[in-house]
Amino acid sequence: MDNLIAQNYRALLARVVRAARLASRVPDAISTIAVAKKFSADDVAVLLACGHRVFGENRVIEASTKYSTLRATHPDLRVHMVGALQSNKALSAVRLFDAIHSLDRPRLALALADAAQRHGKLPQLFVQVNFGDEAQKGGCAPEALAGFLDLCIREYDLPIAGLMCLPPRAHPPSPYFALLARCAVEHAIPFLSMGMSADFEQAIMLGATHIRVGTALFGNRPSL
Ligand SMILES: *Cc1c(COP(=O)(O)O)cnc(C)c1O
Repeated sequence: MDNLIAQNYRALLARVVRAARLASRVPDAISTIAVAKKFSADDVAVLLACGHRVFGENRVIEASTKYSTLRATHPDLRVHMVGALQSNKALSAVRLFDAIHSLDRPRLALALADAAQRHGKLPQLFVQVNFGDEAQKGGCAPEALAGFLDLCIREYDLPIAGLMCLPPRAHPPSPYFALLARCAVEHAIPFLSMGMSADFEQAIMLGATHIRVGTALFGNRPSL
């Protein structure tokens, strides 16, 4: 167990517990998603051996190959889609993922609703909010959030479990975490997916229920 990833994992858990306690929160109320994009099934297996079960990916094809054998040996393994999702991959995504954090537009909502009907099962859904008005990032504009949630829930019968955000990189993240938390309260949505390697402690203090951590566990991602 002296693998670097295993060491990183223990250190991360300790930091999550510390941040939760500071915020008077129960550490178990925070789910750590180990974002393994660009890392191998062997790296994932190290965390599985540590007892970790929840992983994140940002590509459908990469996720479908990486976890096929691991799922057979670990039926309780869970994979969350944290990256942008094309509507034409909705059916594969519904088959493959236990949660999708990037629901952000009507076309995708419709495609997921259709896919759920065909597959008979729906992943847990998070609506991504784009506070920075950054075109290259997905996410629903904050002023469109109320209407989009209403469309998902009432029109397409999609239960929305949480909200997700990736704060604009040029700014300190905490105000955006606080804004997302306020949106969740306003719309009575229970879960908050916010915080990554650089800022998960702040996110936990501001109410994150799901943190998405990659580099702090696996190291720097290969640039390819
Ligand atoms: C890659 C990624 C992460 C993890 O980022 P790190 O900085 O490596 O922790 C979290 N969320 C999303 C949406 C990502 O694409």
